[in-house]
This record gives sequence, structure tokens and C-alpha cells, in this order.
Amino acid sequence: MGSGIDATDSHAIDLAPPYPVLIAAELKNLLEPTQLVDLDITWLTGDQPTPKGEWVAIIPLLTRWMGGTEFKNLPKLRIVANCAVGYNNVDLVAAEMRRVLVTNTPGVLTDATADLTWALILATARRLLEGIDLVRSGRWTGWEPEQLLGLDLRGRVLGLFGAGRIGQAVGHRAPPFGLRVLYAARTAKPDFERETGARRVDTMELLSASDIVSLHVPATPETKGMINSETLSRMKRGAILINTSRGDVIREEALAMALELGHIGAAGLDVYTDEPHIHPRLFAAPRTVLLPHIGSATEETRRKMATIALANVQCVLAGKPPLTPVY
Ligand code: NAP
Repeated sequence: MGSGIDATDSHAIDLAPPYPVLIAAELKNLLEPTQLVDLDITWLTGDQPTPKGEWVAIIPLLTRWMGGTEFKNLPKLRIVANCAVGYNNVDLVAAEMRRVLVTNTPGVLTDATADLTWALILATARRLLEGIDLVRSGRWTGWEPEQLLGLDLRGRVLGLFGAGRIGQAVGHRAPPFGLRVLYAARTAKPDFERETGARRVDTMELLSASDIVSLHVPATPETKGMINSETLSRMKRGAILINTSRGDVIREEALAMALELGHIGAAGLDVYTDEPHIHPRLFAAPRTVLLPHIGSATEETRRKMATIALANVQCVLAGKPPLTPVY
């Protein structure tokens, strides 16, 4: 992307406060009234379409598409302050053409999402859901030597596809479990390698050598559909696939088929292609742990995300550069 947008340019702010802004209504409880000074807020619920009008800023949820039509309908818009680190809900080219800044909330959700990734790794490796179901159903008849045998982590290989903030945080948690770490990313991470013993490999080696593959890439034209029948077939028989990045990275029908055939041993997923719809075949597939996109869902983290999104808006309204632009 080019860098041609300047928060201080003439299109910036030709209004006096209170500034008309749109904010996702679902964020209301996460923001303090003192943070909302100088704003004339229209709270927008998730089921309302993006309106036409004179608003100068929007803080949408990641489920709201912001593209050419939305920018055309909001001619005074200066900033889309996404309340997420991913920003695949925003058409960046259309935003730049309209000279609209786009920001995200990197960093503050790294630990929460890495923790949830580990919850999925442990839940799939140790067959947690099947155990919970067995107990709850009343069918459990007592300790058995071969009941719900899972995977020992010690000595296995964790493959990180993407090793940015979250991928590395997941990798840093691996040595205490005795896992060796491989990663694939566009650039080498020497500090990460030194700190964790991780080794950089190409994507195909990552898939074929890992017992657990965990996805940490953004959804981009290069990564969309990257996990498909061909790449799944390269994975070790019985390997575990974890996805806390974006649903688009996986072809869900292909994954369901690989789970049905037992080629993939288990899948732990937090994100889906067409949320909240989950592909029916994936829904029914064996050994899946399916979560409702809660990677960053801790109270502290969600408050920090909302606060950063709002701070980005306040900066731009004050004629200053935003704190966390996406480009
Ligand atoms: P990040 O710091 O930008 O890291 C992204 C990583 O992906 C980088 O290592 C990057 O490589 C790598 N990458 C990008 N394109 C690639 C490609 N074509 N081939 C190989 N590697 C590629 O992002 P992050 O903060 O870790 O977040 C990762 C994603 O997690 C976000 O984009 C978001 O979609 C998702 N997320 C989900 C939740 C949730 O609730 N489940 C919460 C937070 C984030 P380089 O380092 O070489 O650039």
C-alpha cells in the first residue's frame, strides 16, 4: 500500500467537536465515559447496516465489511479503527482511494490468543471434549487402560505457519511442554530461533514434519485456501491442525474430509470461513474442538482493544497520526 494519507491533510477535520462518530454498540460496556469526550456517538449494532451520512470515524467490529460502497456512503470518513488485529473486513485499496486511514489493535491480544491456541492444542491432543461428553452422558463406567488415549506432547514437533506476534507467543510456550518448534514465515526470526530453538523451514516441510500444525497468518490473497486437500495430504497421518488465525486460510470441506478419513487426527478451530455459519460437514466431523472465535476474549484484553481503537480515532480527530495504522 502507498503511504499517501496524512492525518493532518486538509481533508482531515473541518468540523468542531463534538465529532460525529460511529461505534459498534457491542463495545459500549468496554469503554469508560471519560474516553468519549468530544464525540457525538451513534452506537451501531452488529445487525444494522452501515449507514449513509456525515460521520468522520467508525469503530466497527471485525464482522462489518468496509468497502467501496460504505466509503462512498460516508464521504467525510477519516478513519476506520478496527477493533481487532486482523483487518480483512476492510478493503484497503478502496480506503486508500478515499483517503481513509485504517488502524487495528496489534499486540494487546497476543497473549490471550496464544493462550487460547494452547487450550486448543491440549484439548485436541488429550481428547478433552470426548472425555467431557463421556462423563456428562453418564456412559462412563470407570478407569480403563485404553480409554481416550491421546498424544504425548514431549518430543513432538509443533509447526507454526506464521511466526509474527501470536505465532511467536505460541512458540515461546512450547519448550516447557517438550515440543520442538518449526516455523514458516516470509522472513527469518533469529531472536525467536535463539530463544526457543525454533527452526525455519519452507511450508511443505512444515506440513510434512509437524505433529501439530498451528496457523498464525493473516487472511490475504496468498494465504486464503492455503490449507486444502493437497496441503492436508502432505501432513503426517494423525497430525493435529489448529487454527486461531482466520477461517479463510482453510478449505473447510477438505478438512472435514481429511478428519472423516482419519488422515488428520484432530482439529481445534476458533475461526471459520463464513462466521457464525460452520460448514455442516466440519460440524459433524470427528475429533474437532470448535470454539466461537474467542481468541482475544478476556475482559482485560477486550478493554485494551476497544481503548486502542478509540485512541486511534482521538489521535486522527486531533490531527495527529494514529497509534497503530495497518500500513
Ligand atoms: P502478525 O504479527 O502480522 O504475524 C503474521 C505472520 O504471518 C508473520 O510471521 C508473517 O510473516 C506471516 N505471513 C504472512 N503472510 C504469509 C505468507 N504468505 N506465508 C507465510 N507467512 C506469512 O499477526 P499476529 O498479530 O500474529 O496475528 C495473526 C493473525 O491472527 C491475525 O491476522 C488475525 O487474523 C488472527 N487473530 C485471531 C484472533 C482470534 O480471536 N482468533 C485474535 C487475534 C488475531 P513475516 O513475519 O515474515 O511478515
